[in-house]
Amino acid sequence: MLEETKRLLIHQETEEDQVVSLSLRPAKLTDFIGQKELVENLRVSIKAALKRGEPIEHILFSGPPGLGKTSLANIVAHEMGARITITSGPAISRAGDLIGILTNLEKGDVLFIDEIHRLSKTVEEFLYPAMENFQIDFIVDKGPYAKTIKFNLKPFTLIGATTRSGLLASPLRDRFGIFHHLDFYNEEELSQIVLNSAVKLNVVIDQTAALEISRRSRGTPRIANRLLRRVRDYAQVKAQKNEITNTLVTQAMQTLGVDTAGLDETDRRFIRVIKEHYQGGPVGVETLAATLNEEIDTIVDVIEPFLLKIGFLRRTARGRELTESSLSHLVEQPSFPKNRSF
Ligand code: ADP
Repeated sequence: MLEETKRLLIHQETEEDQVVSLSLRPAKLTDFIGQKELVENLRVSIKAALKRGEPIEHILFSGPPGLGKTSLANIVAHEMGARITITSGPAISRAGDLIGILTNLEKGDVLFIDEIHRLSKTVEEFLYPAMENFQIDFIVDKGPYAKTIKFNLKPFTLIGATTRSGLLASPLRDRFGIFHHLDFYNEEELSQIVLNSAVKLNVVIDQTAALEISRRSRGTPRIANRLLRRVRDYAQVKAQKNEITNTLVTQAMQTLGVDTAGLDETDRRFIRVIKEHYQGGPVGVETLAATLNEEIDTIVDVIEPFLLKIGFLRRTARGRELTESSLSHLVEQPSFPKNRSF
């Protein structure tokens, strides 16, 4: 695996993202670009809840990583004038952890659980009464003497984020009042995000260069921001200026191994393996994961959604299959340098 490229295009948040995203993350609903219908619906829900003087209903955001689920959770809290507690499914390993978090919530607080589909069954069951009646049930004693004691919580809003809502148990899914699916962004929206981020990063960029970055960002704001930062570095080191032009973007992308469709070496290797080892498919995801030495989750959550979206891949009952477009794309690509640093 080429670590350099992998680090560049992964959809998960890196440490650098965490530091920079504090400044690049949209703070208000009006700063949030794209997902127009979702934003409008959310605006109505927020207004209505504020009017009633109640916490907003529990919300579930689903969609691939890097599309703005965490940003939206922060925005909802901000617009509601509420505090937000942020955690994730894998971080809550025992029911006791969840009880600790829930009992610390004040009226109207937002609890954001990222990767909510990764909560364990036991923890999840504690969440049901908490979401439904703002209560938790403690079980004391064992066997015939076991008793359930109810503990009242302050009314709060749970915001869950998941890359795959299909993995959520239906009792959990049913307890959310508001569902929103985030889809990939179009080039104009991404380009606007790049332009806004450039202002915040204090770097000059023209419209064509911003569009070129957005074209290579796999429909994902997190990647657009990350590519912008890499091109800024490239401009500062190679051209010794704080100005990004289209030519600089193209050169930087070539150096980084990001092709015109925004695919990196991991994607191209994925396509090449199906083509060369499995005659273009169909091939099962488990087999692919073993051949590529990748986690199945990485393939399903990170690599495939965009390839499916741009019609490079088909999912059939018998497995994954390449399309003509992905094969011709592979042929058209120039060779990329092995050493990806500049
Ligand atoms: P997710 O939780 O879905 O993985 P995040 O909310 O962490 O995604 O978004 C990743 C980054 O992308 C944010 O830090 C922010 O900089 C940027 N971003 C996401 N959505 C938008 C948007 N609609 N407008 C502007 N920036 C966005």
